[in-house]
Amino acid sequence: MRPFSYARAADLAHASRLGAGTGQGVEASVQFLAGGTTLIDLMKLDVLRPTRVVDLSGLIGPVESVTVTPEGLRLDAFARMSNVADDPNVRADYPVIAQSLELAASAQLRNMATLGGNVLQKTRCSYYRDPTWNACNKRVPGSGCAAIGGFNRNHAVLGVDEHCIAQYPGDFAVALVALDAQVEVRGPRGARHFPFDALHRSADGQPHLETSLNPGEVIVAFHVPAAPWTRRSAYIKVRDRASYEFAIASAAVALDMEGDVVRHARVALGGMAYRPWRARSAEDLLTGRVLTQSSAATAAELALQGAVTHGNNDYKPQLARQTIVRALLHAKALPAREDSRRAG
Ligand code: SF4
Repeated sequence: MRPFSYARAADLAHASRLGAGTGQGVEASVQFLAGGTTLIDLMKLDVLRPTRVVDLSGLIGPVESVTVTPEGLRLDAFARMSNVADDPNVRADYPVIAQSLELAASAQLRNMATLGGNVLQKTRCSYYRDPTWNACNKRVPGSGCAAIGGFNRNHAVLGVDEHCIAQYPGDFAVALVALDAQVEVRGPRGARHFPFDALHRSADGQPHLETSLNPGEVIVAFHVPAAPWTRRSAYIKVRDRASYEFAIASAAVALDMEGDVVRHARVALGGMAYRPWRARSAEDLLTGRVLTQSSAATAAELALQGAVTHGNNDYKPQLARQTIVRALLHAKALPAREDSRRAG
């Protein structure tokens, strides 16, 4: 590991001042440290090389992890993943969020990792994580992409371009995208809220630029609106082993049903795309239709339109279709429950 200076932030304003040099890409001179479950790994691997690390761990804990209001849910970005997954209000009224968190990583990691750090985790592309490979546009802009033409079994098939086919590895972010969450950030220019769907950038020829965060901005909270579909929601994750593994395909779905007819559907995909991926064409197809195996399959077909594969990952579109169908039918079969939301 390379030498770096360490500074501990006393509060958010202090963090923003200390983090003024945070930026995008492996050459960013300043990195924020929260749970440490991603950053430390990548520094040891010599992928990230900050000259200063700003420790945010002093900001963990003073605020409630979960706040419930009639408008929805506020999730503190410094909350531990395990605490939010266990929260009774989240489990009852936003099960897709609880499931996305408890199916991630291992118990030890969930006890350390924060929500904010989790959504910012880096790709698991093995060429990115091993600097002995020269060709990686995400690590070294303009160097090429070793995964295209290389071993790409786990790589993305949606939202990719000729510069990068890296897969977004997270689960929680997929649930947030499905539920139209907002993200709240604070930085040198104050606070701002924006749709969570706008946090992760699209592949646009600059894969080293991953988010829309400005230098010094820290994620403070996630806001999830209350809506009829959040209680009938589910996260289905398909992976190579049943624990401590990243998704090769996942689906976050949320349904508002009138009998067997879909009033509103929310569908997002993980393990499959360059960024957390909302499948709006599938949602539009389902609106006003009876939800059956057949209509779910048609929606899944639409969701995977435009998929681009690179050999080893040719299997992924079909796996994704099956995962979407399974998630939709699972959510449909959930018992209708009273709203247990209450202001706290
Ligand atoms: Fe790098 Fe992206 Fe190619 Fe992986 S897929 S080698 S992260 S450019």
